[in-house]
Amino acid sequence: MRHRIAVVGGGPAGLTFARVLHRHDHPVTVLERDPAPDARPPGGTLDMHEGLGQSALSKAGLLAEFEALSRPEGQAMRILDTDGTVLRDWRPRPDDRANPEIDRGQLRDLLLGPLDVQWGRGVTEVEPGTRDGVLVRFADGRQETYDLVVGADGAWSRVRPAVSSATPHYTGVTAVETSLEDVDTRHPDLARLIGDGSMAVYGVNRSIVAQRNSGGHVKVYAQFRAPLDWHTDLDRHLGLNRRAGLDAGLDAGVDLADVEAVRSSLLALFDGWAAPVLDLLRHGTAFVHRPLYVLPVSHTWAHVPGVTLLGDAAHLMPPLGVGANLAMLEGAELAESVAAATGPDELDESVRAFEEQMWARAGRWAKFTMAGLERLVSPDPTEALALFDEVQSS
Ligand SMILES: Cc1cc2nc3c(=O)[nH]c(=O)nc-3n(C[C@H](O)[C@H](O)[C@H](O)COP(=O)(O)OP(=O)(O)OC[C@H]3O[C@@H](n4cnc5c(N)ncnc54)[C@H](O)[C@@H]3O)c2cc1C
Repeated sequence: MRHRIAVVGGGPAGLTFARVLHRHDHPVTVLERDPAPDARPPGGTLDMHEGLGQSALSKAGLLAEFEALSRPEGQAMRILDTDGTVLRDWRPRPDDRANPEIDRGQLRDLLLGPLDVQWGRGVTEVEPGTRDGVLVRFADGRQETYDLVVGADGAWSRVRPAVSSATPHYTGVTAVETSLEDVDTRHPDLARLIGDGSMAVYGVNRSIVAQRNSGGHVKVYAQFRAPLDWHTDLDRHLGLNRRAGLDAGLDAGVDLADVEAVRSSLLALFDGWAAPVLDLLRHGTAFVHRPLYVLPVSHTWAHVPGVTLLGDAAHLMPPLGVGANLAMLEGAELAESVAAATGPDELDESVRAFEEQMWARAGRWAKFTMAGLERLVSPDPTEALALFDEVQSS
Protein backbone atom coordinates (compact mmCIF):
# COMPACT_ATOMS: atom_id res chain seq x y z
CA MET A 1 0.00 0.00 0.00
CA ARG A 2 1.25 3.46 -0.92
CA HIS A 3 0.70 5.96 1.89
CA ARG A 4 0.47 9.67 1.05
CA ILE A 5 3.55 10.99 2.85
CA ALA A 6 4.85 14.55 3.04
CA VAL A 7 7.99 15.78 4.76
CA VAL A 8 8.18 19.47 5.66
CA GLY A 9 11.77 20.75 5.38
CA GLY A 10 14.64 19.87 3.05
CA GLY A 11 17.48 19.94 5.60
CA PRO A 12 19.56 16.89 6.61
CA ALA A 13 16.56 15.23 8.34
CA GLY A 14 13.97 15.74 5.60
CA LEU A 15 16.25 14.92 2.68
CA THR A 16 17.58 11.73 4.30
CA PHE A 17 14.02 10.63 5.07
CA ALA A 18 12.96 11.28 1.47
CA ARG A 19 16.06 9.71 -0.03
CA VAL A 20 15.63 6.44 1.90
CA LEU A 21 11.93 6.29 0.95
CA HIS A 22 12.97 6.90 -2.64
CA ARG A 23 15.40 3.97 -2.37
CA HIS A 24 12.46 1.82 -1.26
CA ASP A 25 10.40 3.06 -4.25
CA HIS A 26 7.93 4.76 -1.94
CA PRO A 27 6.61 8.15 -3.13
CA VAL A 28 7.15 11.15 -0.85
CA THR A 29 6.46 14.86 -1.21
CA VAL A 30 9.25 17.15 0.04
CA LEU A 31 7.97 20.63 0.94
CA GLU A 32 10.74 23.22 1.37
CA ARG A 33 10.28 26.89 2.19
CA ASP A 34 13.47 28.09 0.45
CA PRO A 35 12.76 29.06 -3.17
CA ALA A 36 15.82 27.15 -4.48
CA PRO A 37 18.61 24.89 -3.16
CA ASP A 38 21.14 27.74 -3.22
CA ALA A 39 18.76 30.48 -2.03
CA ARG A 40 20.96 31.09 1.06
CA PRO A 41 24.51 30.14 2.06
CA PRO A 42 24.48 26.45 2.98
CA GLY A 43 26.46 26.88 6.26
CA GLY A 44 29.68 25.32 7.52
CA THR A 45 31.13 21.86 7.74
CA LEU A 46 29.53 18.82 9.41
CA ASP A 47 31.28 15.81 10.86
CA MET A 48 29.48 12.55 10.07
CA HIS A 49 29.87 10.00 12.87
CA GLU A 50 30.36 6.34 12.10
CA GLY A 51 27.32 5.04 13.99
CA LEU A 52 25.02 7.99 13.23
CA GLY A 53 25.28 10.12 10.06
CA GLN A 54 27.35 7.52 8.22
CA SER A 55 24.87 4.82 9.14
CA ALA A 56 22.07 7.00 7.68
CA LEU A 57 24.08 7.52 4.48
CA SER A 58 24.57 3.78 4.25
CA LYS A 59 20.79 3.24 4.53
CA ALA A 60 20.39 5.76 1.70
CA GLY A 61 22.97 3.87 -0.41
CA LEU A 62 25.26 6.93 -0.40
CA LEU A 63 28.20 5.88 1.75
CA ALA A 64 30.67 5.39 -1.10
CA GLU A 65 29.81 8.79 -2.60
CA PHE A 66 30.14 10.37 0.84
CA GLU A 67 33.58 8.80 1.31
CA ALA A 68 34.72 10.25 -2.00
CA LEU A 69 33.64 13.77 -0.97
CA SER A 70 34.44 13.84 2.73
CA ARG A 71 37.61 15.05 4.44
CA PRO A 72 38.98 12.56 7.02
CA GLU A 73 41.90 14.94 7.66
CA GLY A 74 39.30 17.50 8.79
CA GLN A 75 38.95 15.53 12.04
CA ALA A 76 42.20 17.17 13.24
CA MET A 77 41.72 19.32 16.34
CA ARG A 78 44.08 21.87 17.83
CA ILE A 79 43.47 23.68 21.13
CA LEU A 80 45.30 26.88 21.99
CA ASP A 81 45.57 28.88 25.17
CA THR A 82 44.46 32.51 24.90
CA ASP A 83 48.16 33.52 24.68
CA GLY A 84 48.58 31.31 21.61
CA THR A 85 50.34 28.35 23.31
CA VAL A 86 49.36 25.06 21.69
CA LEU A 87 47.78 22.90 24.40
CA ARG A 88 46.59 19.97 22.25
CA ASP A 89 47.36 19.06 18.64
CA TRP A 90 45.40 15.95 17.74
CA ARG A 91 45.61 14.46 14.24
CA PRO A 92 43.71 11.43 12.96
CA ARG A 93 45.52 8.34 11.72
CA PRO A 94 45.48 8.12 7.89
CA ASP A 95 42.87 5.32 7.99
CA ASP A 96 40.64 7.01 10.60
CA ARG A 97 37.10 7.33 9.20
CA ALA A 98 35.27 7.79 12.53
CA ASN A 99 34.09 11.40 11.98
CA PRO A 100 35.10 12.79 8.56
CA GLU A 101 33.94 16.27 7.65
CA ILE A 102 31.80 17.30 4.69
CA ASP A 103 30.59 20.74 3.59
CA ARG A 104 26.89 21.19 4.23
CA GLY A 105 26.33 22.17 0.59
CA GLN A 106 28.02 19.01 -0.64
CA LEU A 107 25.95 16.88 1.73
CA ARG A 108 22.74 18.59 0.59
CA ASP A 109 23.54 17.98 -3.09
CA LEU A 110 24.44 14.37 -2.36
CA LEU A 111 21.11 13.79 -0.60
CA LEU A 112 19.11 15.73 -3.18
CA GLY A 113 20.26 13.50 -6.08
CA PRO A 114 17.11 12.41 -7.94
CA LEU A 115 14.62 13.85 -5.40
CA ASP A 116 11.90 16.08 -6.74
CA VAL A 117 11.71 18.74 -4.02
CA GLN A 118 8.89 21.29 -4.09
CA TRP A 119 10.82 24.53 -3.50
CA GLY A 120 9.17 27.72 -2.25
CA ARG A 121 6.46 25.82 -0.37
CA GLY A 122 6.49 27.29 3.13
CA VAL A 123 4.09 25.49 5.47
CA THR A 124 2.23 27.63 7.97
CA GLU A 125 0.17 25.05 9.86
CA VAL A 126 -0.67 21.38 10.11
CA GLU A 127 -4.05 20.09 11.28
CA PRO A 128 -4.31 16.38 12.09
CA GLY A 129 -7.55 14.39 12.28
CA THR A 130 -9.54 15.87 9.38
CA ARG A 131 -11.88 13.56 7.37
CA ASP A 132 -9.35 13.13 4.57
CA GLY A 133 -6.21 12.90 6.71
CA VAL A 134 -3.70 15.50 7.91
CA LEU A 135 -4.30 18.93 6.44
CA VAL A 136 -1.27 21.04 5.50
CA ARG A 137 -1.72 24.80 5.00
CA PHE A 138 0.78 26.77 2.94
CA ALA A 139 1.91 30.41 3.06
CA ASP A 140 0.41 30.95 -0.41
CA GLY A 141 -3.06 29.99 0.88
CA ARG A 142 -3.18 26.53 -0.69
CA GLN A 143 -3.79 23.36 1.30
CA GLU A 144 -3.29 19.61 0.82
CA THR A 145 -3.93 16.42 2.79
CA TYR A 146 -1.69 13.44 3.54
CA ASP A 147 -1.73 10.20 5.57
CA LEU A 148 1.52 11.14 7.32
CA VAL A 149 3.17 14.55 7.71
CA VAL A 150 6.75 14.55 9.01
CA GLY A 151 7.97 17.83 10.49
CA ALA A 152 11.67 18.15 9.61
CA ASP A 153 11.47 21.93 9.54
CA GLY A 154 14.11 22.76 12.11
CA ALA A 155 14.26 24.86 15.27
CA TRP A 156 11.24 27.06 14.58
CA SER A 157 9.08 24.22 13.23
CA ARG A 158 5.56 25.06 12.04
CA VAL A 159 4.61 21.37 12.29
CA ARG A 160 5.59 21.04 15.97
CA PRO A 161 2.52 22.86 17.38
CA ALA A 162 0.36 20.00 16.02
CA VAL A 163 1.94 17.64 18.57
CA SER A 164 3.62 19.75 21.27
CA SER A 165 3.46 23.17 22.90
CA ALA A 166 7.25 23.25 23.51
CA THR A 167 9.23 26.17 22.10
CA PRO A 168 13.01 26.76 22.02
CA HIS A 169 14.62 28.86 24.75
CA TYR A 170 17.91 30.76 24.77
CA THR A 171 20.90 28.94 26.35
CA GLY A 172 22.64 32.12 27.48
CA VAL A 173 25.38 31.56 24.87
CA THR A 174 25.61 33.50 21.63
CA ALA A 175 27.74 32.68 18.61
CA VAL A 176 28.82 35.26 16.05
CA GLU A 177 29.94 33.59 12.85
CA THR A 178 32.33 34.96 10.27
CA SER A 179 34.24 33.50 7.31
CA LEU A 180 37.63 33.64 5.62
CA GLU A 181 37.96 32.86 1.93
CA ASP A 182 40.90 31.29 0.11
CA VAL A 183 42.79 31.08 3.38
CA ASP A 184 45.84 29.18 2.06
CA THR A 185 46.65 31.93 -0.45
CA ARG A 186 45.36 35.05 1.26
CA HIS A 187 46.14 34.22 4.90
CA PRO A 188 48.83 31.49 4.96
CA ASP A 189 49.70 32.18 8.63
CA LEU A 190 46.10 31.64 9.64
CA ALA A 191 45.94 28.52 7.46
CA ARG A 192 48.91 27.09 9.39
CA LEU A 193 47.37 28.12 12.72
CA ILE A 194 44.12 26.31 11.95
CA GLY A 195 45.70 23.19 10.43
CA ASP A 196 43.69 20.62 8.47
CA GLY A 197 40.60 20.61 10.69
CA SER A 198 39.47 22.74 13.63
CA MET A 199 41.22 25.04 16.03
CA ALA A 200 39.71 26.24 19.31
CA VAL A 201 40.71 28.74 21.98
CA TYR A 202 38.87 28.76 25.30
CA GLY A 203 38.84 31.69 27.70
CA VAL A 204 36.63 32.74 30.59
CA ASN A 205 33.02 32.43 29.39
CA ARG A 206 34.09 32.75 25.77
CA SER A 207 35.73 30.85 22.95
CA ILE A 208 36.85 31.21 19.36
CA VAL A 209 36.60 28.19 17.08
CA ALA A 210 37.81 28.09 13.46
CA GLN A 211 36.86 25.24 11.15
CA ARG A 212 38.30 24.50 7.75
CA ASN A 213 35.76 23.74 5.01
CA SER A 214 36.75 22.59 1.52
CA GLY A 215 38.29 24.96 -1.03
CA GLY A 216 40.21 27.09 1.50
CA HIS A 217 37.00 28.37 3.12
CA VAL A 218 37.10 28.79 6.92
CA LYS A 219 34.22 29.41 9.30
CA VAL A 220 35.02 31.19 12.56
CA TYR A 221 32.68 31.16 15.55
CA ALA A 222 33.14 33.63 18.41
CA GLN A 223 31.03 32.32 21.29
CA PHE A 224 30.31 34.02 24.59
CA ARG A 225 27.90 34.07 27.51
CA ALA A 226 25.66 37.11 27.28
CA PRO A 227 22.05 38.17 27.47
CA LEU A 228 20.16 38.02 24.17
CA ASP A 229 20.33 41.80 23.83
CA TRP A 230 24.12 41.96 24.48
CA HIS A 231 24.58 44.26 21.50
CA THR A 232 22.34 46.98 22.93
CA ASP A 233 24.72 47.98 25.73
CA LEU A 234 28.18 46.43 25.62
CA ASP A 235 29.42 47.91 28.92
CA ARG A 236 26.43 46.71 30.87
CA HIS A 237 25.94 43.31 29.23
CA LEU A 238 29.50 42.23 28.46
CA GLY A 239 31.38 44.18 31.11
CA LEU A 240 33.97 45.23 28.58
CA ASN A 241 37.03 46.72 30.09
CA ARG A 242 37.50 49.29 27.38
CA ARG A 243 40.76 51.13 26.96
CA ALA A 244 40.90 54.67 25.77
CA GLY A 245 41.90 54.82 22.13
CA LEU A 246 41.64 51.08 21.46
CA ASP A 247 37.87 51.13 21.32
CA ALA A 248 37.41 54.63 20.00
CA GLY A 249 34.29 54.69 17.94
CA LEU A 250 32.73 51.75 19.75
CA ASP A 251 29.25 52.87 20.69
CA ALA A 252 27.38 51.56 23.69
CA GLY A 253 25.00 49.82 21.31
CA VAL A 254 26.03 47.88 18.22
CA ASP A 255 24.03 47.59 15.03
CA LEU A 256 24.35 43.89 14.15
CA ALA A 257 24.16 44.77 10.45
CA ASP A 258 27.23 47.02 10.76
CA VAL A 259 30.19 44.73 10.01
CA GLU A 260 32.86 47.06 11.40
CA ALA A 261 30.91 47.79 14.59
CA VAL A 262 30.45 44.06 15.27
CA ARG A 263 34.13 43.43 14.52
CA SER A 264 35.17 46.18 16.96
CA SER A 265 32.90 44.86 19.70
CA LEU A 266 34.26 41.32 19.27
CA LEU A 267 37.87 42.55 19.30
CA ALA A 268 37.10 44.40 22.52
CA LEU A 269 35.40 41.33 24.01
CA PHE A 270 38.43 39.14 23.20
CA ASP A 271 40.96 41.86 24.05
CA GLY A 272 44.29 40.45 25.29
CA TRP A 273 44.06 37.21 23.30
CA ALA A 274 46.99 36.28 21.04
CA ALA A 275 47.25 38.45 17.92
CA PRO A 276 47.06 35.55 15.41
CA VAL A 277 43.83 34.35 17.04
CA LEU A 278 42.31 37.82 16.85
CA ASP A 279 43.37 38.00 13.19
CA LEU A 280 40.59 35.46 12.56
CA LEU A 281 38.15 38.24 13.53
CA ARG A 282 40.15 41.05 11.89
CA HIS A 283 40.03 39.31 8.50
CA GLY A 284 36.50 37.92 8.77
CA THR A 285 34.02 39.10 6.16
CA ALA A 286 30.35 39.34 7.17
CA PHE A 287 29.27 38.58 10.76
CA VAL A 288 26.16 36.47 11.41
CA HIS A 289 24.51 36.65 14.82
CA ARG A 290 23.48 33.18 16.08
CA PRO A 291 22.12 33.07 19.63
CA LEU A 292 22.01 29.39 20.63
CA TYR A 293 18.52 28.10 21.40
CA VAL A 294 17.47 24.65 22.62
CA LEU A 295 14.29 22.69 23.19
CA PRO A 296 13.77 21.25 26.68
CA VAL A 297 16.01 18.22 27.29
CA SER A 298 14.03 14.98 26.77
CA HIS A 299 11.28 16.70 24.80
CA THR A 300 8.46 14.18 24.13
CA TRP A 301 4.77 14.45 23.29
CA ALA A 302 1.58 12.40 23.36
CA HIS A 303 1.50 10.53 20.04
CA VAL A 304 -0.73 12.17 17.42
CA PRO A 305 -1.75 9.88 14.54
CA GLY A 306 -0.54 11.17 11.19
CA VAL A 307 2.07 13.68 12.42
CA THR A 308 5.60 13.30 13.76
CA LEU A 309 8.84 15.28 14.05
CA LEU A 310 12.49 14.65 13.22
CA GLY A 311 15.81 16.38 13.87
CA ASP A 312 15.96 19.91 15.29
CA ALA A 313 12.15 20.20 15.14
CA ALA A 314 12.00 17.37 17.72
CA HIS A 315 15.12 17.97 19.83
CA LEU A 316 17.04 21.18 19.14
CA MET A 317 20.28 20.98 21.14
CA PRO A 318 23.56 22.92 21.39
CA PRO A 319 25.77 22.59 18.28
CA LEU A 320 28.31 20.09 19.57
CA GLY A 321 28.62 18.06 16.40
CA VAL A 322 25.66 15.71 16.68
CA GLY A 323 22.40 17.45 15.60
CA ALA A 324 22.66 16.72 11.88
CA ASN A 325 23.86 13.19 12.60
CA LEU A 326 20.83 12.40 14.73
CA ALA A 327 18.51 14.14 12.27
CA MET A 328 19.78 11.97 9.41
CA LEU A 329 19.71 8.69 11.31
CA GLU A 330 16.15 9.41 12.43
CA GLY A 331 15.16 10.26 8.86
CA ALA A 332 16.61 6.98 7.60
CA GLU A 333 15.08 4.86 10.35
CA LEU A 334 11.61 6.37 10.04
CA ALA A 335 11.70 5.97 6.25
CA GLU A 336 12.62 2.29 6.51
CA SER A 337 9.83 1.53 8.92
CA VAL A 338 7.07 3.47 7.13
CA ALA A 339 8.12 1.94 3.78
CA ALA A 340 7.60 -1.50 5.33
CA ALA A 341 4.16 -0.67 6.84
CA THR A 342 1.32 -2.27 4.87
CA GLY A 343 -1.82 -0.53 6.18
CA PRO A 344 -2.91 2.54 8.18
CA ASP A 345 -2.67 0.76 11.54
CA GLU A 346 0.79 -0.56 10.80
CA LEU A 347 1.87 2.89 9.60
CA ASP A 348 0.71 4.44 12.85
CA GLU A 349 2.37 1.71 14.93
CA SER A 350 5.66 2.16 13.07
CA VAL A 351 5.63 5.92 13.74
CA ARG A 352 4.80 5.35 17.40
CA ALA A 353 7.67 2.87 17.80
CA PHE A 354 10.04 5.23 15.98
CA GLU A 355 9.16 8.10 18.33
CA GLU A 356 9.96 6.00 21.43
CA GLN A 357 13.35 5.10 19.98
CA MET A 358 14.11 8.69 18.88
CA TRP A 359 13.16 10.18 22.27
CA ALA A 360 15.40 7.80 24.21
CA ARG A 361 18.46 8.38 22.02
CA ALA A 362 17.97 12.14 21.54
CA GLY A 363 17.35 12.59 25.28
CA ARG A 364 20.78 11.11 26.05
CA TRP A 365 22.47 13.36 23.48
CA ALA A 366 20.58 16.46 24.64
CA LYS A 367 21.87 15.93 28.20
CA PHE A 368 25.41 15.39 26.90
CA THR A 369 25.42 18.47 24.66
CA MET A 370 23.84 20.74 27.29
CA ALA A 371 26.48 19.67 29.82
CA GLY A 372 29.09 20.07 27.08
CA LEU A 373 28.06 23.65 26.31
CA GLU A 374 28.33 24.51 30.02
CA ARG A 375 31.93 23.25 29.98
CA LEU A 376 32.98 24.71 26.61
CA VAL A 377 31.82 28.22 27.40
CA SER A 378 32.62 28.22 31.09
CA PRO A 379 34.02 30.48 33.82
CA ASP A 380 36.80 27.85 34.09
CA PRO A 381 38.45 27.32 30.67
CA THR A 382 40.24 24.16 31.88
CA GLU A 383 36.79 22.49 31.75
CA ALA A 384 36.87 22.68 27.95
CA LEU A 385 40.24 21.00 27.82
CA ALA A 386 39.11 18.31 30.25
CA LEU A 387 36.02 17.64 28.08
CA PHE A 388 38.21 17.29 24.99
CA ASP A 389 40.48 14.79 26.82
CA GLU A 390 37.50 12.80 28.08
CA VAL A 391 35.97 12.52 24.60
CA GLN A 392 39.34 11.56 23.07
CA SER A 393 39.93 8.81 25.59
CA SER A 394 36.39 7.36 25.41
C1 LIG B 1 27.21 26.52 13.95
C2 LIG B 1 26.64 25.14 13.90
C3 LIG B 1 27.48 24.05 13.70
C4 LIG B 1 26.96 22.74 13.68
N1 LIG B 1 27.80 21.69 13.47
C5 LIG B 1 27.30 20.44 13.44
C6 LIG B 1 28.16 19.30 13.19
O1 LIG B 1 29.36 19.41 12.97
N2 LIG B 1 27.58 18.06 13.18
C7 LIG B 1 26.24 17.89 13.41
O2 LIG B 1 25.77 16.73 13.41
N3 LIG B 1 25.42 18.94 13.64
C8 LIG B 1 25.91 20.20 13.66
N4 LIG B 1 25.07 21.26 13.88
C9 LIG B 1 23.63 21.02 14.09
C10 LIG B 1 22.92 20.84 12.78
O3 LIG B 1 23.15 21.96 11.95
C11 LIG B 1 21.41 20.67 12.96
O4 LIG B 1 21.15 19.81 14.02
C12 LIG B 1 20.80 20.11 11.66
O5 LIG B 1 20.94 21.03 10.61
C13 LIG B 1 19.33 19.76 11.87
O6 LIG B 1 18.82 19.29 10.65
P1 LIG B 1 17.24 19.42 10.37
O7 LIG B 1 17.05 18.86 9.01
O8 LIG B 1 16.49 18.83 11.50
O9 LIG B 1 16.92 20.98 10.40
P2 LIG B 1 17.48 22.16 9.48
O10 LIG B 1 18.87 21.90 9.06
O11 LIG B 1 17.19 23.41 10.24
O12 LIG B 1 16.57 22.12 8.20
C14 LIG B 1 15.22 22.54 8.25
C15 LIG B 1 14.73 22.82 6.84
O13 LIG B 1 13.33 23.13 6.91
C16 LIG B 1 13.05 24.29 6.13
N5 LIG B 1 11.88 24.94 6.72
C17 LIG B 1 11.83 25.65 7.87
N6 LIG B 1 10.58 26.06 8.10
C18 LIG B 1 9.82 25.60 7.08
C19 LIG B 1 8.45 25.71 6.77
N7 LIG B 1 7.59 26.36 7.58
N8 LIG B 1 7.97 25.14 5.62
C20 LIG B 1 8.83 24.45 4.81
N9 LIG B 1 10.15 24.32 5.06
C21 LIG B 1 10.65 24.88 6.19
C22 LIG B 1 14.32 25.13 6.23
O14 LIG B 1 14.43 26.04 5.16
C23 LIG B 1 15.40 24.02 6.19
O15 LIG B 1 15.77 23.70 4.87
C24 LIG B 1 25.57 22.56 13.89
C25 LIG B 1 24.73 23.66 14.10
C26 LIG B 1 25.25 24.94 14.10
C27 LIG B 1 24.32 26.11 14.34
